This record gives sequence, structure tokens and C-alpha cells, in this order.
Amino acid sequence: MKNGTTHLFVPGPTNIPDAVRRAMNVSMQDMRAPDYPELTLPLFADLKKVFKTETGTVFIYPGSGTGAWEAAISNTLNRGDRVLMSRFGQFSHLWVDMAQRLGLEVDCIDVEWGEGVPVEEYQRRLGDDRQGRIKAVFATHNETATGVTSDVAGVRKALDAAGHPALLFVDGVSSIGSIDFRMDEWGVDLAVTGSQKGLMLPAGLGILSVSEKALEAHKQSRMERCYFSFEDMKASSTTGFFPYTPPTQLLHGLRASLDLIFSEGLDNIIARHHRLAEGVRHGVHAWGLRLCAKEEKWWSNTVSAIVVPDDIDARHVIANGYSRYRTSFGAGLSKVAGRVFRIGHLGDLNEVMCLAALASAEMSLRDAGAKVEAGSGVAAAQEWYRAEIAGNLQPL
Ligand code: PLP
Repeated sequence: MKNGTTHLFVPGPTNIPDAVRRAMNVSMQDMRAPDYPELTLPLFADLKKVFKTETGTVFIYPGSGTGAWEAAISNTLNRGDRVLMSRFGQFSHLWVDMAQRLGLEVDCIDVEWGEGVPVEEYQRRLGDDRQGRIKAVFATHNETATGVTSDVAGVRKALDAAGHPALLFVDGVSSIGSIDFRMDEWGVDLAVTGSQKGLMLPAGLGILSVSEKALEAHKQSRMERCYFSFEDMKASSTTGFFPYTPPTQLLHGLRASLDLIFSEGLDNIIARHHRLAEGVRHGVHAWGLRLCAKEEKWWSNTVSAIVVPDDIDARHVIANGYSRYRTSFGAGLSKVAGRVFRIGHLGDLNEVMCLAALASAEMSLRDAGAKVEAGSGVAAAQEWYRAEIAGNLQPL
């Protein structure tokens, strides 16, 4: 018997607001009908606001974030190109792996998991690259596996300080729409996201925003590509028609999610994610545990990866949450399997939902044998949320 709701605290796919679910419940449409662009064209324009770009071109691929990674690489680079990347978690690892498999020569900096993009080392390597061999620099803005947010503005500064012309690729899959991201201001050339995180949709869209400079680079790029080719896709943002069958229901959902985003206000959403994440962090500290993210500057506002005590297996915590309390937490991936569990706190959620996550995690930790004081994390987060909300109240 399953009463009440099941609790989803993985860092994507995230909870889908009712308005978005309802918006997707429409009958199928003719994607070649003359009025189809009335649905699609405003989506391209509005996504630009989410990426904070005036000059970028948005591509919406039926696919996922990984597809948008591939579209970004295969449309702008050439086999054998040298690229600068850093690896500090499962997703930055997978991006390196893709770049290698697509035939790029990857200059990969391995960083301890729990830290982020090594901006100073990037600057040093870019400065040393007098012949301009490095064609692109990659940054995973928010490493979802370790709950680490990196300094993309800092990467831009490193490029500028070295006077280096390389393209800047950013994985914003678990940041864009939830954590401050500014494509134009930070000079990002290829910004990647997916539908199932900050955009509060099911998985199924790989979304990419491309700068004018990257579109220029595309003209020199000879990598094999077909499904993801910019050539085939680039007219979609001006005609509103897709080169192959678009997922119409998802696009209706995207319309509804963008409406929600703009009615709350992107900056308010970013502030809410900070407020909610701080509450979770207060809870974690009250348990006497620490985050995988080593320093405050790396703390992610969309996901907290929590290191369990040495004598505890995080897999048991996750299993307890799922089987006893109907709560899904994110698993520790690869190197941190068994060492961390993750609370995703992004998308459509509020303070009391975060308290539920902490309450469930607290029980699951104790069931797994961890000596955390019952109620301690929840109480610490409650007090944080109360103070925050009281501070925001207008006097009666
Ligand atoms: N990059 C990051 C930071 C992610 O968190 C994920 C998925 O969780 C991906 C890339 C891959 O995206 P997708 O699963 O949509 O292909």
C-alpha cells in the first residue's frame, strides 16, 4: 500500500510542477502545420533569457544533455584538435571520455573530487600555449556527482588574461536555470543543458546555446555528424520547424516551465536555490557530517553530496531511504560510490520539501548505523528557513 507521495531528491530528473504536467497532456499536433511556429519560436527566444544571451543561437535537440555535448563538440571542432579539460567527478569524466572518443587530443587536468575547475592551472597552460594549439577549453559548471560549482567567470578571465582565442564550452546541465549563469557576460561559446533539471521537465531535450564565434568555428569544422548537425538544425530557431519529428508534448511542457520561470523571476529562482541549499547544508553540519565539496567556494546550490562516516556504507543509507521511507537520494557515483549520498535540491521545490529530505535522510542514516542525533539536521534547517523567511516578510 502506497499512501501519500513518493519523494524524489535525486539531482535530476527533478519534480515536475502540475502546471507543466498538465500542459503536456495535449493531443498530437501536425509539426508541419503553418501555426506550429507559434508554439516553437517563442521557446527559442525565451530560452535565450535563461542562458542570459542576446547574441547566442539556441538549438533544441530531441535527446538529452549528453546529446547536446556531442552536438557542441562535433559541430565546432576537428579530429586531432587539442582541448583543455578538467576531471573531478563522474560527469566531467564522461565529458573527457566523449571528447577522446570523438578524436580530440585532450589535455586533461585531474583534480581531486570535491574541488572544481582549476582556473589558475588553466591560465598557466593557456599562457604557455603560444602557438594557439588549444582550440577549446571545457568547464563543468556544476559537477552533479560531487556537488561542486566551478567559477566559469574565472575561466573566462583566465582565457582573457592569457589573450587566448580558444572556444569556451560549459556544461550547465545541473546549473542553468538554477544557479547564476551568464552566457554573454562570461563569454561562453557553447552552453549545454538538458530538460530534466532546472527546467523541471521530463528528460528528452538536449539544449544548446551557441555564440557567434562558435558559429564561425563551425564553418571550419569537419567532424562527422549527422543527427546533431547544426546545418540541419540551425533554421529551426528562425522558421520554427524541425528537421525531424520534434517531441511536441515536451515543447508544450517547456512553454509552461518557461512561464513559471519568468513569473517567479530567474534571479528569484537563483536566490531560492541558494536559500534551500543553505538549509540543507545547515542540516548536514548539524549531523556532524561534511560535504564532498571541499571548500565553501565549491558548494553547489543544486545538489549536496554528503560524505557518510567511515564505518557506514552510503549505499545502505540510499537503500533505507528508498525502501523504508519512499525517498530517492542520489547515489555516490564511481570513485565516491559508498562514500557519499546526494540530496538534489533543484527545480520545483520549497523549504518544507527540503525538511522532508533531511528528515528522511536522518532516519536512513541512523538506520544504517550512523551516529547522527535524531532531529538535529531537521532542526538546524528549520531554524535557518524560519530566520530567512521572517527576514523576507514585509511588516504587517
Ligand atoms: N552533465 C551533468 C553535469 C549532468 O548532471 C548530467 C546528468 O545528470 C549530464 C551532463 C548528462 O546529461 P543527460 O543525462 O541529460 O544526458
